[in-house]
Amino acid sequence: MAEHVNGKHLLPDSSSLELSSVKRGRGCWVVEVCGPHAATCPDCGTLSSARHSSYWRHLKDLPLQGRAVRIRLRVGRWRCRNPVCQRQIFCERLPKVAHKHAQETKRFGEIVQLMGYALGGRPGERLSSRLGFPVSDDTLLRRVKQVARSRPPTKSIAVLGVDEWSWRKGYSGYGTILVDLQKRVVVDLLPDESAASFEQWLQQHPGVKIISRDRDGVYAEGGSSGAPRARQVADRFHLVQNLIKAVQEELAHQRHHLLMPSQELAAATATAEATETGLEVVSSQARGPRPSSRQKEIRQQRRQQKVALFEMVKGLRAQGMRAFEIVKATGISRGRVDKWLRLKECPPQNQMAPRPGMADYFREDVRRLWEQGIQNGKKLLVEIRKLGYIGSYTSLMRFLAPWREAQGAVEKAEATPLQSAETNAAVLAMRHISPQEGAALLSKPKPMLSERQSKIVEFLKRTPDFATMRHLVLSFRSILLGGKVASLKRWIEKAEAAGIEGMRRFVRQLKKDMKAVENAVKEVWSNGPVEGHINRLKTLKRQMYGRAKFELLRARTLPLALKSSLHQT
Ligand SMILES: [Zn+2]
Repeated sequence: MAEHVNGKHLLPDSSSLELSSVKRGRGCWVVEVCGPHAATCPDCGTLSSARHSSYWRHLKDLPLQGRAVRIRLRVGRWRCRNPVCQRQIFCERLPKVAHKHAQETKRFGEIVQLMGYALGGRPGERLSSRLGFPVSDDTLLRRVKQVARSRPPTKSIAVLGVDEWSWRKGYSGYGTILVDLQKRVVVDLLPDESAASFEQWLQQHPGVKIISRDRDGVYAEGGSSGAPRARQVADRFHLVQNLIKAVQEELAHQRHHLLMPSQELAAATATAEATETGLEVVSSQARGPRPSSRQKEIRQQRRQQKVALFEMVKGLRAQGMRAFEIVKATGISRGRVDKWLRLKECPPQNQMAPRPGMADYFREDVRRLWEQGIQNGKKLLVEIRKLGYIGSYTSLMRFLAPWREAQGAVEKAEATPLQSAETNAAVLAMRHISPQEGAALLSKPKPMLSERQSKIVEFLKRTPDFATMRHLVLSFRSILLGGKVASLKRWIEKAEAAGIEGMRRFVRQLKKDMKAVENAVKEVWSNGPVEGHINRLKTLKRQMYGRAKFELLRARTLPLALKSSLHQT
């Protein structure tokens, strides 16, 4: 079905234009083109072939072979021969080729918009000039804003997700993002986060039946005044997160129960140095084996630990969690989660190898010196510099921080009479479980725990309050995922009766927003898609180097609806 191409096919509208010549101009192709031999009067619609005169239009068009293209288009002025028509002479219009007074073809304008939307000003400017159609960054951004301004108003949205986004990291300013949860697209961005502006937006966009939002606050308020008949739904993910946060705070209060004899772990699995999960093993005992086999052992342990994390990520995905939720649940970086989700097997060790010259690379040596009693930072620095360490004092301190912290915990533990009954070795080798880690493990369902994690959970459950909290989190989660309002009410009673201050505080918050929490049990909607769009927004802001103005940010966040005139035959 191959077709021979002639020059005509390269024109923006091959049905109305005729190619006269292609010449090589200065840094561009000059394409001379003639308009049609007849035209329709815009007033009466009569076809006329009586040419009065003609003139040239100059249009930028898509590049050819990396060079800019300038179209010289000869357009006619025509006489209207209809005796009853008021108009005597009219200019030819080529609506498929270019807008009335434009200096570019329509298809050129579309690419400019697309480029500005996808890349922003400066990067767009650089790429466009490389591709052979230089456009300034001002032009690119102006076009993007034009498209956003000329958007037709959004039609009625039934299910709306709303959340805040921060203007700049560390600053107090927030904006609001609104997402159509059925179509999963952004419908609007508001420059602030206030009940008043959300209320106003809802009044301008009637028809919203369900509003999904985070905890009780400005959106609850704006929602009930702006759309009083809409049902509000508290976001399940945030509710569970808030509960885990409450557990974490409670663990921090009861920190003395977070010291676990590492022997208990060693019995089941090889002692793992869980730097990644926030666990750190510390022992001031002298280490027996030769360094080479110790290094091997450590490598193996790290490998096991990595594989366990990898499997956890895969397990969470298998349960239907999305990447950002996994990031939140595990604390593993987004980049690594994305990478692991693409892989079938845990990637080999060498990708995690410490960078030569940095502290982790000298872990063994630092450990040896540390155990020899050289624990002063400056002295350690002098010693490992001799071995080739090229990092700073600060990064060495950062590397040592968990050791110091755990050391302090061990000393405290040694002082408690409870531990003194144990053998000396067991007392000295303690694992300090951070409240964050403890809360994460306590809220993780049993099938998702690795063998090592189960051991830690079993240990934590020996503290009655911890066991109660684990039960509360797991049952709360399953009630939210398809439970009944009645069981939610029973859960609340149980949580209040548990006598744990952290849980009581959580229930108080919950009760303030009871209607929306009940709806979270009944409704299927969640703010997952909103989170996704907030991440995209963050990327856009980063691209704009924090200089993002609201109008441009909004223009680039809203979906781009282009009616493409490209690829038409
Ligand atoms: Zn006419």
